[in-house]
Amino acid sequence: MSEEKCTHCEGECAEECDGNCENCSGNCESCEHSEGCSGDCESCGSSEGCSGDCNSCGSSCGGGCGSSAPPKKVELLSDSRIKKVIAVLSGKGGVGKSMVTSLLAVELAKTGYSVGILDSDITGPSIQKIFGAQGELYGDHEGIFPAETPLGIRAVSVNMMLPDAETPVLWRGPILGGIIEQFYSEVHWGDLDYLLIDMPPGTGDVAMTVFQRLPVDEIVMVTTPSKLVSMVVAKAINMAEQVNVPIVGLVENMAYVKCDECGHEIKIYNNDDTPYVAEKYGLEVVGKLPIDPVLANMADEGTIEEYDGFLLDELVKKVAINGKEF
Ligand code: ADP
Repeated sequence: MSEEKCTHCEGECAEECDGNCENCSGNCESCEHSEGCSGDCESCGSSEGCSGDCNSCGSSCGGGCGSSAPPKKVELLSDSRIKKVIAVLSGKGGVGKSMVTSLLAVELAKTGYSVGILDSDITGPSIQKIFGAQGELYGDHEGIFPAETPLGIRAVSVNMMLPDAETPVLWRGPILGGIIEQFYSEVHWGDLDYLLIDMPPGTGDVAMTVFQRLPVDEIVMVTTPSKLVSMVVAKAINMAEQVNVPIVGLVENMAYVKCDECGHEIKIYNNDDTPYVAEKYGLEVVGKLPIDPVLANMADEGTIEEYDGFLLDELVKKVAINGKEF
């Protein structure tokens, strides 16, 4: 090892150091750069606040550690064009993001649009089951071909790549982030009007990767009539503001149940904070979904496309009105 102490690692490199971290293998123990790294935080593009450990930052570095450069967005394959990317977000799990994503996809498809779904909930994927998609995805040397449903909705979900639906995904943040990017940039999406992204719960690594690396145009925020959910949704609303993506509106799921006998709408929660959240953040409530066992059964049986209601017609109009020139 060189007598001269390297200014970055002070001679602590795991391999022979010539006194210049930038020339070493990047296996520097003190700065914790992962293998393959130049050892120079400025060049690896990790996002700000990064520990300098490429394995911990949860993205494959489109940003600029110590630089103010915004993260670079990933590109589609040359055979694909997507007019509008919409993330369906909540912050909370179990509130119906996948249900809203699926119903929105079905209604957009029935209205005549070409639609894709990217299931970014890698550890809790639902889209394959909800649409009853069979078989594993296959690919060619350039990328993966999405599954196609009877209505022509193209979908990619991690369960379509696992030997069986019950195999758990035990990957850490950076791997998850890489998968999300591949689901966008290495899929033969073809021509789509809309790509809907079914977001995972929370505002962590994967959500950040989606907003930093994918060109998300708009967010649909899902909530339920509960103060607890509203509190978490407020975090997601603040996240949307920070990543500078406009929110189309709030969809209140499980808003009521409809009486089979008289059609009366019964509110079963008396802690409905949705109007307060809407007013506080200047958002519009663009849809209210009932708790409907038919919906739950169809999602369980993979027949959601057969649902014949148009529960999200207001949202469909809203995303079309806000749309780019098609
Ligand atoms: P998330 O994606 O937010 O985790 P899901 O969409 O997976 O939530 O919904 C959680 C569960 O609730 C699923 O079993 C789903 O079928 C059911 N569900 C969601 N919305 C409704 C609804 N409006 N009526 C009946 N069941 C619903």
